Amino acid sequence: MGTRGTKIVGVDVKKLVKMLNKALADEWLAYYQYWIGAKMVVGNMRPEVVAELVQHAGDEFRHAGMLVDRIVQLGGTPLLDPTDWKKQANCVYAPPKDPKVVKILKQNITGEQCAIDVYNKLLKFTKDKDPITYDMVLKILADEVEHEEDLQNLLEDLKSR
Ligand code: FE
Ligand code: FE
Ligand code: MG
Repeated sequence: MGTRGTKIVGVDVKKLVKMLNKALADEWLAYYQYWIGAKMVVGNMRPEVVAELVQHAGDEFRHAGMLVDRIVQLGGTPLLDPTDWKKQANCVYAPPKDPKVVKILKQNITGEQCAIDVYNKLLKFTKDKDPITYDMVLKILADEVEHEEDLQNLLEDLKSR
């Protein structure tokens, strides 16, 4: 932790770390939901859907790393135990029990909409107070907005077949 780097943070650092850890829990669950969904999914346009799910899984994994780096930089402790993921998450983990493409896409769209709300809140919380976290959150939010759009486009393509 850099002392001056932390001093310029104009929000309650403890509260911020807590919010970042909750987002971290969401990212791991989103990663797994995409990763296992890509293995299970069946139906129309499977190759396209699998490619998108795998790409998004990679993005969520990368987001988890970004969050941990910032938590550590702020002097916080990232979640160390996977049992905390479901306890701390903001968003609901939806297991792909019905592996049909439409069901999987809808589950992940719901997840992305939750992620967009989570990061939009973090963006408002850090605006003009913590430019480093703000910049990171903005980058993640842009990815989540793209994820939602990608999945909704796939759903539209499926419907218009
Ligand atoms: Fe993410
Ligand atoms: Fe996402
Ligand atoms: Mg995509």
